[in-house]
Amino acid sequence: MLKDSFNREIQYLRLSVTDRCDFRCFYCLPRSHREFETPEEWLTSEEIERLIGQFASLGVKHVRLTGGEPLVRKELHDIANRIAALPGIEELSLSTNASRLAQYSDSLHEAGVRRLNISLDSLDEERFKQITGSKLQPVLQGIDAALASGFHPIKVNMVIMRGINDHEVEKMVEYCLDRGLTLRFIETMPVGEGGRSASEHYLPLSEIEARLRERYSLKPAAMRGSGPANYFQIDDSGLVIGFITPQSQHFCDTCNRVRLSVTGDLHLCLGQEDRLALRPMLRSGASDEEIRQAIRDAIARKPERHHFDEAPEAILRPMSALGG
Ligand code: SAM
Ligand code: SF4
Repeated sequence: MLKDSFNREIQYLRLSVTDRCDFRCFYCLPRSHREFETPEEWLTSEEIERLIGQFASLGVKHVRLTGGEPLVRKELHDIANRIAALPGIEELSLSTNASRLAQYSDSLHEAGVRRLNISLDSLDEERFKQITGSKLQPVLQGIDAALASGFHPIKVNMVIMRGINDHEVEKMVEYCLDRGLTLRFIETMPVGEGGRSASEHYLPLSEIEARLRERYSLKPAAMRGSGPANYFQIDDSGLVIGFITPQSQHFCDTCNRVRLSVTGDLHLCLGQEDRLALRPMLRSGASDEEIRQAIRDAIARKPERHHFDEAPEAILRPMSALGG
């Protein structure tokens, strides 16, 4: 079992399989960003399998594939297959912008991925383009394909930005209601240059909750693997909506996760720079036990909480480097 010094049990690993992306969401990966990791620095499928195997033997049960955009990594299916087959891994999920999902949803389901988080910040073509630099239609087709492939649950993540997409909240609720999708609203985080440029549009989600309460009844709802979101059921419908409030109400005291970058750096907190470089150990012949001990030692120094409020300029890497 992996426990940190604040008695938090780490069972969840977010694995970034690439720091590249076919979108340029301005709050995540600004167009000016040029410094991407080179293929020699990426963990290979075999290295990923070996490392996740060590995490699984230490008690990690849930792995989420993220990026950048995970579907731009050619070996994604191979990586998913290898992780799904590891003893101890009970759940394999994926975060995606859905731009390529229409093509790959069936094969990802076959590879063992079951739960999907899909980013969707707008249902308006122009606004979608303004936010992501890309097209809306393939994403909507990707969501339809994911529903047809049988993924469950599918959670739609909408980053709420004042003056940009906050007027679309009710429209998004109806879209998700019609399709049986879970909808989660996310506050902007000041991670990287993009995240900080979005701060001028920051909107505390308590405002959105109050607005929705004027229109719907919101009953507290439980959701398996709920992580940091606070969930409600809308009226008596099956629709569950969640509020993720890293800024206005941080949830660090129940944090159960760590993150692994494409280059094999184990990041102990999204909002801090503490990390352990595992790739040099893999490539210099370290034994499994040496790797496990290094992981235990790193987890023991996991920071208590992020410092988005006190030091919003602290994190230079873009969100796309670690996948949220
Ligand atoms: N490309 C995939 C996607 O968009 O779902 C996975 C990686 S993306 C970095 C993961 C999540 O982080 C997305 O839901 C995205 O909206 C969110 N995100 C990125 N930058 C953010 C920021 N500055 N503040 C809040 N959420 C952010
Ligand atoms: Fe790409 Fe996801 Fe970041 Fe958008 S939020 S730029 S889709 S990694």
